[in-house]
Formats: sequence, C-alpha cells, structure tokens
Amino acid sequence: MDCLFCKIIAGEIPSTKVYEDDDMLAFRDINPVAPVHVIVIPKKHIASMDEITPENSCAVAKIFEKIPEIARLAGCENGYRVVSNCGVDGGQTVPHLHFHLLGGMELSWPVFTK
Ligand code: AMP
Ligand code: ZN
Repeated sequence: MDCLFCKIIAGEIPSTKVYEDDDMLAFRDINPVAPVHVIVIPKKHIASMDEITPENSCAVAKIFEKIPEIARLAGCENGYRVVSNCGVDGGQTVPHLHFHLLGGMELSWPVFTK
C-alpha cells in the first residue's frame, strides 16, 4: 500500500521510535511543533478518524490506554496534549490515522488560527 506511515511500520522508511508493540508504533515527528512531538499510530491501516468503526475501534482504545506511558517515555513531565487532524479542514496530511502527542512546554489554547 502506498501509505507513508505503513512504510514506517514496515521499516521501509526510518523513524525514531519511542514505543512499539503488536498494535501500535510511536515515533518522533520529523517536523516537531513542540519540544515533545510524537506520532502514535495503529499498525492496522485506518485512514482517519472518519474510518473508526466498531470492528477496528479496539486499536484506538489500546492506543489511548498506552498514551500515558508513551508520554512519560517521550519526556512529558507536566502534562501533554493529544490531537488528531481529520480531513481537509482538520489539516490532515497523512491518510493513516495518527495521534499527535505534544508536550515539553506549556501549550497555548485555543489553537484555532487561519
Ligand atoms: P497531519 O498533518 O496531522 O496529517 O500529521 C502528519 C505528521 O506527520 C506531520 O506532523 C509531519 O511532520 C509528520 N511526518 C511526515 N513524514 C514523517 C516522517 N517520515 N517521520 C516522522 N514524521 C513525519
Ligand atoms: Zn497506512
């Protein structure tokens, strides 16, 4: 499949891994927007939040069960933020469901800018 994140899972494109198990991979974002910026993805290809179904949602649940540990491993000491961009208006650029784990500084809110 011609999917950037599936290629990272397959090891065809290198990444700086933070955490990996049978269900998910967490790696450093190549263009970080915060001191800690990790991408967390299910190993099973799901295109976006729009494609989450009762059949595949356990992959998402497993990610959220693991995010506190991934945040600690990544260096978030005082909290963090999890973001998933979906579709054109959401700013999604890679069509494989992913969660941005952001931290390492006090993040501003709201984030809505044009
Ligand atoms: P989004 O714009 O929400 O789809 O997020 C895609 C993210 O993937 C962006 O933050 C990119 O910087 C990041 N990204 C793209 N290619 C790579 C790569 N090869 N390794 C790590 N992160 C990447
Ligand atoms: Zn994929």
